[in-house]
This record gives sequence, C-alpha cells and structure tokens, in this order.
Amino acid sequence: MAQPDGIGIAAAAAKRPAFDSSSVSGSSTSDESARKRSRKERKRKRKDLKRRHREQQEQVQEKEQEQEQEQEERQRAEDADVAGSSRSTTPSGAVNGHSRRPGAFEQRRNSLSKAARDPRDKPRAKSSVVVAGQSQKARPPSPIIDFDGLSRPGRGTRRRVDEDADASEERLQKMRAAVRTLLECVGEDPDREGLLETPSRYAKALLFLTKGYQANVDDILNNAIFNEGQNEMIIVRNIEIHSLCEHHLVPFVGKMHIGYIPCETVIGLSKLPRIAEMFARRLQIQERLTKEVAHAIMEILKPQGVAVAMESSHLCMVMRGVEQTSSTTVTSCVLGCFERKSKTRAEFFSLIGDRRS
Ligand SMILES: [Zn+2]
Repeated sequence: MAQPDGIGIAAAAAKRPAFDSSSVSGSSTSDESARKRSRKERKRKRKDLKRRHREQQEQVQEKEQEQEQEQEERQRAEDADVAGSSRSTTPSGAVNGHSRRPGAFEQRRNSLSKAARDPRDKPRAKSSVVVAGQSQKARPPSPIIDFDGLSRPGRGTRRRVDEDADASEERLQKMRAAVRTLLECVGEDPDREGLLETPSRYAKALLFLTKGYQANVDDILNNAIFNEGQNEMIIVRNIEIHSLCEHHLVPFVGKMHIGYIPCETVIGLSKLPRIAEMFARRLQIQERLTKEVAHAIMEILKPQGVAVAMESSHLCMVMRGVEQTSSTTVTSCVLGCFERKSKTRAEFFSLIGDRRS
C-alpha cells in the first residue's frame, strides 16, 4: 500500500516471463517491452501459421505428384505388358524372378526425357562394406540361410542331418517299402527279377537327389572368401542344374548363370556352382531356386549386386501335361545394383548371351 508503483511493477513483473529481468526499471519501459514482446509473439505466430500452411501445401503437392507417378507407371506397365506379350521368348509366360515391378527396365530405358541416372544409383558408403567371412557369424539368420548353414530346414531336415546308422537304415527300409507299393500300384510285379533291387536303388537315388537338404553353407564355403579389392562384374556361365520339380517329383534340367559385382571381397569361383547345386538338390520350383541362389550369395558375400538367370526344361511339361517338348522356362533374379541400374543389368544379360538385353 505504501508503494503502489512498486506493487504495480511487481505485478507486471510477475506477469512477465523470467528471461526479461533486465528491463524492470520503470513502468514506461516495461509497457514498451511488453508491447514489443506481444508484437514478437504475434510475428512468431504468423510465421508458424505460414510455415504450417506451406508444409500442408507441400504435402498435398507431394501426394498429387505421387499419384501422378503411380498413374504414369501403371499406364507404362500396361503398355509394356501389351508389348511384352507379343514378343515374349518364354512360352507359357514363364514367371520372372522380379515380377513385382513389371517392365521397370523398359520404363526407364524408354524415358528419353528423363536423366539417365537414377538417384539411387549412387554408390553406397564404404562404411557398409564388411568382410563377409568375419561378420558372418554375427549376422541375424536370414530366411534362406540360418545360423548353422542349413537352409529353410523343414521338420524332417534336422532329423535327417542328425540321424545315426540305425535311423538311417530305418529310413531306407521305409522308403523301400513305399517304392514297392508304388510298383504294385502301377500294375507291376515287384518280385520279378528286373525289379527286385529297384526299391533299394530308387530310395538311394532319391536321397542323393535331395542331398542338398543336408548341405551346410559354411562347409561349402570353406573360408573361400577373399578380400581382393575387386569391384568388376564376375560371371560364371552355364552351370548345369539338375533338380526335382516339387509338384511332380520329376526332374527339370537346365543351365544357370550367376553374376555378381563384389564389394572388395570375392568368393572362390567353384563355390558358385556348389551353392547352386546345394539348392538344386532339393524339391524345387525353378522360380524359387533362382531366387534362393541369388539371395544366398547376397547374404554370404554382401556384394554390390547379384544377378542369377536360369533356363531349363521341365520333364513334367515335356513328358506329360502340355507335352511341350521344345519349350524352356527362363527365370531371373536381380538384386542390389543389378536391380537399380538398367545398364548393369543389360551388361549381365548381354554377357550371358541373352537377347533380352
Ligand atoms: Zn512339375
């Protein structure tokens, strides 16, 4: 009460935020600074509002652009499909390993108005390069190769790997009985001379044809990964593949071509056919076989990219069903830089002698 001014100032000061203590010297200056503050506040709010508005506009624009691009891509994909179906080299429309993005290669190749380079083409930072042999153990298990090297182990795979001599004999006995039943079912006499040993032979043959279930990636690699500083494309062509179609249990045979561009580390060349064989000696479909080989190499070596192409003839198509004796099925799977760069992909396909490039 004795110092009304002082109380006024105190009240004003109390309303003010703490940072403005320097300006508490008189009522006039405090008013002025309060005005200043409110002006600043309003300015800030306006700026905020403008910024938010701008952001919203940008978001809307982005969405519109995305929709436009999607529409364009769909249109192009349709065009490519129409064009592709008329000049397809694969009868029966063989499934392609990267069919999720149809005609992406054509789209990019034909768009002359756009820059040839894709922003995603930029090489990765060196920090992501790891020596595959060292980091292999620490990596989380992939769906293709698990930590102990067995791939896609089914319930029976583990039992087959771990079985002792007795269990092995029991397995053979079971298989022999099954084959004998099959022979009876086709109207044969399993006891005639020519067929006496057939159940046993067939059981052993089938175990051999599916021995890939027991193969271990670590054993196959046998530390044959070398740090060579090599960064050019490496291709192993014409790897012979003999596999069993899982739908009919009859063979499909063909050739596989594996290419990769290393990230400093290379793999022993003979290991590529062995990895391919490991996946081929199972019940397979060609599409999955191609994909599994590509992903396995990607996982083991962590290269810049992997490309796998395969052409094969399926006996289930040749000997039965549509009886297409001269048709072959072509599949491919491209990963990493092969997927990103059409030029790299074209180089691979031209080097393996594929006219698709
Ligand atoms: Zn089949």
